[in-house]
Amino acid sequence: MIPVKAYAAQEATSPIAPFSFDRREVGAHDVLIDIHFCGVCHSDIHQARNEWGGSIFPMVPGHEIVGKISKVGSGVTKFKVGDLAGVGCFVDSCRECQSCKEGLEQYCEGGMVGTYNGREKDGTPTYGGYSSKIVVDQSYTLHISDKLSLAAVAPLLCAGITTYSPIMHWKIGKGHKVGVLGLGGLGHMAVKFAVSLGSEVTVLSTSKGKEADAKRLGTHHFALTTDEAVLNTLKNKFDFIIDTVSAPHDMNLYLSMLKRDGTIVVVGVPPTPAPIHNFGLIMGRRQIGGSLIGGIKETQEMLDYCAAHNIVSDIELINIKDINTAYDRMLKNDVKYRFVIDMATL
Ligand code: NAP
Ligand code: ZN
Ligand code: ZN
Repeated sequence: MIPVKAYAAQEATSPIAPFSFDRREVGAHDVLIDIHFCGVCHSDIHQARNEWGGSIFPMVPGHEIVGKISKVGSGVTKFKVGDLAGVGCFVDSCRECQSCKEGLEQYCEGGMVGTYNGREKDGTPTYGGYSSKIVVDQSYTLHISDKLSLAAVAPLLCAGITTYSPIMHWKIGKGHKVGVLGLGGLGHMAVKFAVSLGSEVTVLSTSKGKEADAKRLGTHHFALTTDEAVLNTLKNKFDFIIDTVSAPHDMNLYLSMLKRDGTIVVVGVPPTPAPIHNFGLIMGRRQIGGSLIGGIKETQEMLDYCAAHNIVSDIELINIKDINTAYDRMLKNDVKYRFVIDMATL
């Protein structure tokens, strides 16, 4: 077994605190990654506080993992010792269902194995990236370019792919007016991708203080959604709204901002369901769709796109001791725009 230092939540009401455990030995198809950085996703908070139910404790959160390979199994062909590597939100899947065969492992019918708060096929709980090392099958490990800042690449493994994948699926690009709802970790990546692909982007935000950053990120317009006068200017405006909001919010309001045949793509997962008035859908033949992270093939494609276009996350690097403060700040919408843990501080 491989001893690992980590931070974990012991239960839903306890802070994230030091913890240690053992990883499995490196199997024939596994790589061992020394974790250098791990991004902090709002899903870490939802799960560590059991807001979605069914959490497994103790929990080592973290699914935006980047580091360097320090050991490879005898059958590993994709990586060698010293390579940079990344791990996102899942570390295994059934490998046999239609979704797995199509490279859409996130929709595995047998259930993908989450990087943390999941169970391996033998029932062992999975522990995530707030830790010193991780052992992962090579097929679920990503190549990371050395052209970009490694710390700023970490959030691409979840925030990046979660916004890139629906943009590709719905073919969002030139000629589309796109609203990005919520300027946090996911939201700021959605802005970067949509702008890079030629859409006209409006940030829909509750935080006046983010206006200058929205412009700096390349956004064409900024709309403060707490301002009644601003809301009145947004009816029938967007082809797409990418909804990244982590807390309950009024979906009917945002439906009214879609043009005819427009689509809200939800990626945010508030803990409680949203009531939706059917009139908001049938008037204007509008749609609501959803999207979950992205498969391994598309995640690699996104990472390569980012390397080619010099796209990374805007990050604030933190000491792991400050993880609970980081959670509190995220809950106050005070993150610019992703916290990343420097694992050297573990
Ligand atoms: P985050 O960094 O905390 O950003 C969320 C943003 O939502 C906030 O910065 C804020 O932006 C806005 N917001 C928060 N409360 C709001 C409210 N009551 N009304 C309106 N806007 C509000 O979170 P994140 O890491 O980007 O994650 C966002 C959500 O996506 C979470 O629910 C997470 O679990 C989910 N997620 C889903 C997937 C997937 O595969 N679908 C993957 C990763 C994460 P403003 O200050 O601009 O208003
Ligand atoms: Zn995430
Ligand atoms: Zn499957």
